[in-house]
Amino acid sequence: DVTRRPIMAGNWKMNLNHLEAILLVQKLAASLTEQQLTDVEAVVLPPFTDLRSVQTAIDGDKVKIGYGAQDLSQHKGGAYTGEISGAMLAKLGCSYVVVGHSERREYHGEDDALVNAKVKAALANEITPILCVGEGLEIREAAGQVEHCRGQLDGALEGLKDSDVKKIVIAYEPVWAIGTGKTATPDDAQEVCGAIRARLAEKYGAETADAVRIQYGGSVKAANIAAIMAQPDVDGALIGGASLDAEEFASIVRFRE
Ligand code: PEP
Repeated sequence: DVTRRPIMAGNWKMNLNHLEAILLVQKLAASLTEQQLTDVEAVVLPPFTDLRSVQTAIDGDKVKIGYGAQDLSQHKGGAYTGEISGAMLAKLGCSYVVVGHSERREYHGEDDALVNAKVKAALANEITPILCVGEGLEIREAAGQVEHCRGQLDGALEGLKDSDVKKIVIAYEPVWAIGTGKTATPDDAQEVCGAIRARLAEKYGAETADAVRIQYGGSVKAANIAAIMAQPDVDGALIGGASLDAEEFASIVRFRE
């Protein structure tokens, strides 16, 4: 049996300015003990404009909360107005970056090839990508979720070495469950998370597949996290709405208690 350290990551999306960000991080730090933050990895993913403030709050407090960004450019640098590079994020101490969130795929036309380039850009800067995959409602209704997610996974990991794949965090986020209050059942979450791990084993070997942490995301709250975490292939959660409330997010991190 393999033990993977659970990882709870809060995707703040386009919420909270840098002052509000400091407050939330401080509240979070006050709500969680060192032991709780050792047992479970807690990560916040604020907007770009908050990162410097979050870095200062976390460093100053010696709090063991990780942080990262919600997106990055596939390019190294140069004439790309409005974009943020992996090197810039690394310089701000980001450990994680979300890649391929369904909102980026839907509103910004991100396809598997772009997601693949962004995964590589993150890894090149020693930032762990949190790679999101997930099916929409129509695909779910046609029972195509496993095939769809496998395709997104293959596309996103194209050309990566086993040693890189091992570092990645994957988030299974059914689009119909994001921000809708409709959580996938624990069995639904396990079905796809298990299929993702099986695919990784097929392509990269059992050792790599066993090392990768797979999150579930979609209307996770304190009230439903324990049942989801009880599934063998679910190693954490990517949390949107509920991560904006310090007490709620802290309760999710303490899912075992
Ligand atoms: C998300 O956007 O990654 C997400 C899971 O959102 P929510 O928890 O609000 O459904």
